[in-house]
Amino acid sequence: MADLDQVMEPTGTIGQARRLQHACLQHGTAVIAMKPYAGGWLFWKENPSGVVLAPLQCLAYALSQPAVATVLPGCKTVEQLNAALAYLTAAPEDLDYSAVHTSARWALSSTCMYCNHCLPCPAAIDIGRVTRLADSFAASRSDSARQEYAGLSARASGCTQCGECLQRCPFGVNIISNMERAAETLGL
Ligand code: SF4
Ligand code: SF4
Repeated sequence: MADLDQVMEPTGTIGQARRLQHACLQHGTAVIAMKPYAGGWLFWKENPSGVVLAPLQCLAYALSQPAVATVLPGCKTVEQLNAALAYLTAAPEDLDYSAVHTSARWALSSTCMYCNHCLPCPAAIDIGRVTRLADSFAASRSDSARQEYAGLSARASGCTQCGECLQRCPFGVNIISNMERAAETLGL
């Protein structure tokens, strides 16, 4: 578990959830995310996290997490159902949940959320996916992460360390270091 502790920056319940999600991923277990709006708590401007999110941002966050295959928002009205279905046609900027970075309660600084806000990469690396695979491998040492990585058309070893992605990552992730780690553990 020491390796995982090094790459899983979040602490407390978020860190524990990440560990469970990576374990599910490696065992081929799909996760259904429930209560993505935290009962509406995240829409409340006085919520203690200090960050107010819109429904689409909540759905985007839940669906970007490892092993999450679908999300089940509670809808009491047709309007609420339509607000959730808007995810399917939403513009990327409407799905940007990076504001959570400003809250110490989320404790996400320097942690990759696999959101791919850092793209495009000139080397065509799917940075979020590659980082997720490296984290999953660190969590379990299973072959499935390596097998998925082997099927990618652009590998971490192709990183030229140009730094373009660093300017776009809202979470302050050391992407170059993550690409080096991925190349080292998943194969070139
Ligand atoms: S490096 Fe940053 S922008 Fe890229 S996937 Fe991770 S958190 Fe998102
Ligand atoms: S530093 Fe590496 S991963 Fe980031 S944009 Fe450049 S080539 Fe892509």
